[in-house]
Amino acid sequence: MPAEPPSARDLDAFRAKADRFIAELDEEYYLHYAGLKEGFDLKSIYDRYPELTSLEQAQSMGLAVNGAGGGIRELWRFAVEGYMGELTREHTEREARVEAELKATVGEEEIPFRMLRPTIANEPDRTKRAEIEKTRNELTEEHLNPIHLESAEVVRHAVRQLGSDNYVDLYRRFGFDLDGLAGQCRSFLDSTERLYETTADRLFRERAGVPLAEAERWDVARVFRAVGWDSAFPADRMLPALEATLADLGIDLHAQKNVHLDLEERPLKTPRAFCSPIEVPDKVMLVIQPMGGPDDWRALFHEAGHTEHFAHTSPDLSVEDRRLGDNAVTEGWAMLLQHLIDEPAWLLRRLDVPRPQEFAAEGATGLLYFVRRYCAKLLYELEFHAADDPTALQPRYVELLGDALKIEPSPTDYLGDIDSGFYVTAYLRSWAFEAQLRAFLRERFGNTWFTRRDAGSLLRELWSEGQRMNADELLSEVTGAPIEMEAVAERVRESFAAA
Ligand SMILES: [Zn+2]
Repeated sequence: MPAEPPSARDLDAFRAKADRFIAELDEEYYLHYAGLKEGFDLKSIYDRYPELTSLEQAQSMGLAVNGAGGGIRELWRFAVEGYMGELTREHTEREARVEAELKATVGEEEIPFRMLRPTIANEPDRTKRAEIEKTRNELTEEHLNPIHLESAEVVRHAVRQLGSDNYVDLYRRFGFDLDGLAGQCRSFLDSTERLYETTADRLFRERAGVPLAEAERWDVARVFRAVGWDSAFPADRMLPALEATLADLGIDLHAQKNVHLDLEERPLKTPRAFCSPIEVPDKVMLVIQPMGGPDDWRALFHEAGHTEHFAHTSPDLSVEDRRLGDNAVTEGWAMLLQHLIDEPAWLLRRLDVPRPQEFAAEGATGLLYFVRRYCAKLLYELEFHAADDPTALQPRYVELLGDALKIEPSPTDYLGDIDSGFYVTAYLRSWAFEAQLRAFLRERFGNTWFTRRDAGSLLRELWSEGQRMNADELLSEVTGAPIEMEAVAERVRESFAAA
């Protein structure tokens, strides 16, 4: 039976159900990762909304897009991702279960799978790090890659049912400018190659005792763990620093009735901060378990950026403008707060970090590493999703990421290192969004823009827009320019020049 386009009433019913469905998914996510619930039960949620995630629904919403505005296209993408989410739900659950239950035996020690990366980062002994990483690779290959492969096959089939040749074409139809962004990424990789080689080499020598040319992937997490700076970023000052930063901008964190801080320690709680916007804007969870160290500080501020964005989103917006849309926007707000940790003027005000310029330059090296990594990931994901046989892409993963980072990645990560829905583009564009918006804020409010009430007022006004506009539109409205990856390169060069 051919699908028919939905009526206006169908669309409203779809919006209302979508709102509840997302709320339930976010709540389940919160309960599981906050360690309040061992299981991760997506099935009963999907079962309650069968009509939301059916093939017919996805096809029918596709017909509604013809001639309609951006919001309807977001609802279509949501229906399609819901359909594919339902088809791969079992895989997602199995993956979460395996990750939660799997334990690695390294020497005498038993390490939970999810703790392997943090353990590598905290392990000063290079040989031991290599051993833990090899165990992680073996477990990934044996327990997770079969799930990823099955899931990739299911998605490939679904994409054809939806009338696209492959996943890349489907996302082009959603309005993702994948080709334009890929072009910007290639230029970025070119223009920052020398700078990366010089600055990363310096950082790897200092922190891991090896030149970049001899660095291995098990050195990376260790280098960015930056133990040397730990004492400057204590756990007990994280929340007070966040409160004070928000207060400078005119936001009283504890007076925000819709923001729920989850600070309790629980054995099953994920060690990394996260935000779960269960109701936008009425119930936004900010979950942390402070450990201290610069990376933990960055994670908290990143998630606080999401939290404030969702908490300030206008309740009058449509479901698609509050809940869906271009995630480069919310990631951009997250990056804006996260990067305060690498801002010398902010460090001087909030902490007594010795040599803040040096810390900022190291932070810029980290930023350069991650942006180059994501540029390569996008180029890889475009090839991966266009290929007939995913396993054939394993060597390309190693080649593209190795070229960008000058450190060979693990071939076993060629499936797990893919973000569904081209989320990689949201991160890439959010880094540019942050660099461009920060330049604007500094020009308009001065280098200590983050201490200014009027800057805070502007942010609150922009946050209230939710994701009604995409990141390019929002940025153009404020600064007059669309997203430009090269802005990140300029931001990084500026940090090195100041150091
Ligand atoms: Zn984020």
